[in-house]
Amino acid sequence: MLELSKYTKELSRFFSTSGNILLVCHINPDGDAIGSQLALYHYLKAQGKNSAMISPNNLQEFLKWMPGADLINIFIRKREYCKRLIEQADLIVLLDFNQPDRLGEAETSIISSPASKIVIDHHLNPVNFTNLLISDPEKCSTSELIYELVTSINDGPFLSKQYAESLYVGIITDTGNFEHGAYSSRTLRIVADLLDTGIEKEKILNLIYNNFSSHRMRLQGFALNERMIILPEFQTAYIYLTKNDLASYYHVKGDTEGFVNLPLSINGIVFSALFIEKDGFVKLSFRSKGNFPVNEFASEFFSGGGHLNASGGEYSGTLDNTINYFLKVLKENFSRFIKKD
Ligand code: 5GP
Ligand code: MN
Repeated sequence: MLELSKYTKELSRFFSTSGNILLVCHINPDGDAIGSQLALYHYLKAQGKNSAMISPNNLQEFLKWMPGADLINIFIRKREYCKRLIEQADLIVLLDFNQPDRLGEAETSIISSPASKIVIDHHLNPVNFTNLLISDPEKCSTSELIYELVTSINDGPFLSKQYAESLYVGIITDTGNFEHGAYSSRTLRIVADLLDTGIEKEKILNLIYNNFSSHRMRLQGFALNERMIILPEFQTAYIYLTKNDLASYYHVKGDTEGFVNLPLSINGIVFSALFIEKDGFVKLSFRSKGNFPVNEFASEFFSGGGHLNASGGEYSGTLDNTINYFLKVLKENFSRFIKKD
C-alpha cells in the first residue's frame, strides 16, 4: 500500500511552485489515461493553475465526448505547437504509464526538457526516469490514485462534476465496468463520492458502452466467427485481424477495443491474445484469468508490458511471422507461465 502522505507534500510543492504545468498521457490512450489527465486538469484549473495537455496520438472515438477532451493537443497532429508547450513547461506530469517509450514520438522532446517530471501510475515494475515517481499497482486505475492524491492535497474531496465524470470514466474503463481488475471496497466508496456530485451515470455508460457503429459490431462478429483460433492444449485463444479485414469493416480507431477480452468467456481459456496488423509491425494485446502473468509474457517476448491480467506489446514483422513466433514461444513457455497459477 502506497504511503500517500509521503507524496502529497512533495506533489503539492511541485504544483504550487510551477507556473506552467503540462499533463501528458500515454500513446493510444485508454479511458483511464484520458480520465486521469482530464481530472487533474480540471482540478488544477480550479486552483487557478496554468496547465495544458498533450496526448502522443489520437483519442479513440468513444472518449472524444469527455469534458475537456477537445483541449488535449495531439502531438502527431501539432508537433511544433506541442514542442512549444513542452519548452514552456516548468512541470510535466506523466499519467498512466511508467516507461518513457510510451510517449511515442513525444519521447525525445519530453525526456530532454529541463522541466521537473512526475509519474503518476498504477502499472507494475516502474522505470524510475523522473524526479518523482508515484506508483501504486494496488490501485485499480490511475484515476483512483488521482482521487486519493487530490483529496489529500485539497484537504477533502474535490467535488466538481467534470472532475468526477473524468475519474468515473477512468475507473469504469480500467475495471471493465467492475468486471475485472484490482478494484476494492475503497474504489466503490470513491465511486459513491463521484456519483454524489450528480454526474449522469446512465449517460456516461451509454457513451462508453452503447456507442458502437454497426460496422464495429459486424467486425466483432467476423472476428469471432472467422479469425478466432482456440488452442485447448494451451488453454489459449487468439484473434487476428489483417489490414484488409479492418478496411472491409470501415474500421476507426478504438473499434477493436474489448475484442481481446471475449475469448476469456470460453470455458477453460485462461490466456487470450489479439493481433492487429499494422504497417511493418503487429500490435498485440493480451488478457488472462488467474495468475497467468501476461505482463511478463509481453515484456519477455513482445517488447511490452502492463498488468498481471492485461498487457500489450508489438512485434516487428508480418502478421504470419508474428503468429508463428507467438505459437513458438507459447509452446516453449506455457508450462512455465501456467505453473504460476
Ligand atoms: P491494451 O491491450 O488495452 O492496449 O493494453 C492493456 C494494458 O497493457 C494497458 O495497461 C497498457 O498500458 C499495456 N500496454 C499495451 N500495449 C503496451 C506496450 O506496447 N508496451 C507496454 N509497456 N505496455 C503496453
Ligand atoms: Mn490505467
